[in-house]
Amino acid sequence: MAGGWTRDGAVQDQIDDTVKDAVLRARALTPQGDSAEECDDCGEPIPKKRRDALPGVRTCIACQSERDKAVVHSRSTGAEARIASCARRV
Ligand SMILES: [Zn+2]
Repeated sequence: MAGGWTRDGAVQDQIDDTVKDAVLRARALTPQGDSAEECDDCGEPIPKKRRDALPGVRTCIACQSERDKAVVHSRSTGAEARIASCARRV
């Protein structure tokens, strides 16, 4: 009843919202238009699958995750910290 159920649900809602925000943010940051055949950062070829999945992609997976890390650090929304603290509680 007023036990863990409510709390778990609330945490899940918060995670859902956070993930939704992150997805929207990632979409807003995703370039549109022609995909690059080679990574802008390291020059490695970008797999066709990745280019098809992400129109306008400019980087390989490794470089993109580096860029994503930089984005997380440069924006202090606290969303990532919230995910981390939720994960610890679950
Ligand atoms: Zn790269």
